Amino acid sequence: MDSYKLLKGSEVSRPIHQKIVERSNWLQERGWTPKLASLEIGNNPAAAMYIRNQKRVAAKMGIEFENREFKHDISNREMLAAIQAMNADPRITGIILQRPVPPHIDLQTIQGAISPQKDVEGMHPANIGKVVYDDFVLGPCTSLASVEMLKATGLELRGLEVVIVGHSEIVGKPIALHLMADLATVTICHHGTRNLSSHTRRADAIFVAVGKAGLITGDMVKPGAAVIDIGINQIEVTDENGEKKMKTVGDVDFDSVRDVAGWITPVPGGVGPMTLTMLMNNTVAAVEQQKKSYERMINA
Ligand code: NAP
Repeated sequence: MDSYKLLKGSEVSRPIHQKIVERSNWLQERGWTPKLASLEIGNNPAAAMYIRNQKRVAAKMGIEFENREFKHDISNREMLAAIQAMNADPRITGIILQRPVPPHIDLQTIQGAISPQKDVEGMHPANIGKVVYDDFVLGPCTSLASVEMLKATGLELRGLEVVIVGHSEIVGKPIALHLMADLATVTICHHGTRNLSSHTRRADAIFVAVGKAGLITGDMVKPGAAVIDIGINQIEVTDENGEKKMKTVGDVDFDSVRDVAGWITPVPGGVGPMTLTMLMNNTVAAVEQQKKSYERMINA
């Protein structure tokens, strides 16, 4: 019999949803309507799916959502101009750049042009910098979502042995910073790590954000550990009729890890829905911050 507990994003995020709706309503009653502007460059099926989900969840939370489509060959200069116009538009309170973007787009520059006050993905260097100081309003959504999934286990973070696999600026590194703020003992593994399993096997909690299906197998996990799978991969599988089809999986080999783990997040349905919740949480937090800045300015 499986001993693991499945951590579903929809269930873990339910109590957070309610609070976001309450804060969003409170702001609207005072004339501060949260409005999330989405930037879509070219047509990409993955981006289209994210946009549909964001639109649906935003509507449930009283957040206005507007997707702006840009042609696939738009120049970086034109994109920068569009973002500057949105930064200056007081009706737009949050901006999200949908990925993937066409290869000629300079993602770092375009993303960095979004005003830190409207950067609801929490990816602007100014917002990441505040995470380092553990004094942030808009943190990176995926790292916040992943940490919320771990908190849902009820494990005491102080002194917890945590191993993070993957050290990207928007996922792995900020997860480490959030957990260190809660006094967990954190090890970060990456491409250069020798003997990955020697680290994962001693961890009370493992976060995996690499983008490599099947990277973490049951023999790499300590019995009873919490396994938070952030990876999203498309793999080809053969269905019962012998037909080939694409399937979404994480970085964790679910079938072998669930026999060992105490908790595990599924893919899809784990960190993904919680990331969406964190995006909406940031969208409301951005308006709260903008309202405070405005009030400070008029009272100065
Ligand atoms: P990324 O920028 O490509 O980073 C991948 C990280 O994995 C890098 O730090 C890389 O290290 C490390 N790595 C590569 N091969 C490794 C190996 N064999 N062993 C250990 N580490 C290795 O990707 P990302 O943006 O962080 O995203 C990671 C995954 O999470 C992707 O599958 C992405 O689709 C998914 N994701 C999910 C969500 C969600 O909401 N669920 C959100 C964002 C991303 P080096 O740099 O040293 O090579």
